[in-house]
Amino acid sequence: MKRSFVVLGGSGDLTGRLLLPSLAELYERGVLDGDVEVLAVSQRDWDDDAYRDWARQRLTAHAADLAEDARERVVAQLGHQPGDVTEPADLRTALARVDGVPVVYLALPNTVFLPALTALREVGLPAGARVVVEKPFGTGIEDARELNEVLHDLVPEEGVFRIDHFLAKQTVLNVLGLRFANRIFEPVWNAQHVDGVDIVFDEDLGLEGRAGYYDTAGALRDMLQNHLLQLLAVVAMEPPQALDAATLQARKADVLRAVRSHPGRSVRGRYTAGRIGDRELPAYADEDGVDPSRGTETYAEFTVTVENWRWSGVPFRLRTGKALGTRRKEIVVRFKPVPHLAFADEQPEPDVLRLQLSPDGIALGINLNGAGEPFELEREVLRATSPPQDLPAYGLLLREMLAGDPTLSISDVEAEEGWRIVQPVLDAWAADEVPLAEYAAGSDGPA
Ligand code: NAP
Repeated sequence: MKRSFVVLGGSGDLTGRLLLPSLAELYERGVLDGDVEVLAVSQRDWDDDAYRDWARQRLTAHAADLAEDARERVVAQLGHQPGDVTEPADLRTALARVDGVPVVYLALPNTVFLPALTALREVGLPAGARVVVEKPFGTGIEDARELNEVLHDLVPEEGVFRIDHFLAKQTVLNVLGLRFANRIFEPVWNAQHVDGVDIVFDEDLGLEGRAGYYDTAGALRDMLQNHLLQLLAVVAMEPPQALDAATLQARKADVLRAVRSHPGRSVRGRYTAGRIGDRELPAYADEDGVDPSRGTETYAEFTVTVENWRWSGVPFRLRTGKALGTRRKEIVVRFKPVPHLAFADEQPEPDVLRLQLSPDGIALGINLNGAGEPFELEREVLRATSPPQDLPAYGLLLREMLAGDPTLSISDVEAEEGWRIVQPVLDAWAADEVPLAEYAAGSDGPA
């Protein structure tokens, strides 16, 4: 059977920078056994040839390392249908153009998800069709519930792929290997031995011209509500009995249900002008397309607890920010000090396990009887670095969508739980109960 993607929003940044290059990568690696047709829908007045020209440019810019054959194989299967995806008639015309059962990919601004899905419901999809929804999954809890309702009218839950591409990243998959394929970590993976967990995604890039989306979303909705909570779910969940979609999603949903947020332990910030390396960054409020009166945060931090037997009382601190001085993307598990120290030293730094994203790696900081005086402790770090992932995250996700396996996507319950957790923080911030702190670009974030 011919396989096809109908990409609603196929002229956007995501399609040109990630989806089409990832498809070319799948061809180059011989992962796909046949060709995949891609019909893009957008409001541009483009025919197929104009779209192919645009796609060729994007592939040259973002998949330059791949063979031209692989890129041209993508281009040869592309088409473009001009239309408004919130209009059922336009969707009907687009769907009539593809052969077989489509994977409909919503590469749209998240404010357009609901009207587009509502229009799609009016048109209907053939049995076996799949629907892919990008992140963030709506704009809040009510929106997420409505999206789920419309999706369930369209296709069964197993046919819905709610994307959180962090789940397809090597380090995140490695958390499963580390925890559940080794004997030594699980016995200490609990409140008795763990002092706290930090989940950090600090970026040294500023807005990068994405005000249209980011200024209405902010750091909390863009990163924390989805990506960082998925990292928390993988780190804190109970051992799954098997690694299939139903089991993995259920274990993650269980732990998300146990999460309590503490809006009083949150920080929101916005960067002012500053320098990062040799780059001068203007203040966020002065960036093109930003409405400073919205008070959009570029830094979000908050602490949650997981109210279950395993984790009760352990703080999980989630933090992300743009335009920070140091790029730091990692999950840090901090262990408690030993109960009794026989060494003469002062209490040494407790063990710390760092699960690092980009570049992927694992580092375990431990205390050893070092090379110097007998019984004098020295700090050592055991490292495991991973070679680059065979298939980058989006390539892996596209392969799974075509195969119909949603194990690396998030479920309806997880999506709603994500919003339930952040909603009290969003409300507290909207009511100005937490002041918007300023930090200079290039600094470590708000004081
Ligand atoms: P974008 O560059 O703004 O593209 C949005 C696309 O939607 C454009 O093709 C636009 O076409 C189309 N569109 C909007 N309203 C439409 C309508 N009523 N009818 C038909 N087409 C319509 O956004 P993006 O960066 O590609 O992001 C798309 C989604 O992916 C978002 O949900 C985003 O959060 C998510 N995402 C993006 C990235 C990334 O790196 N870009 C990463 C992860 C997730 P017209 O211009 O013709 O309207």
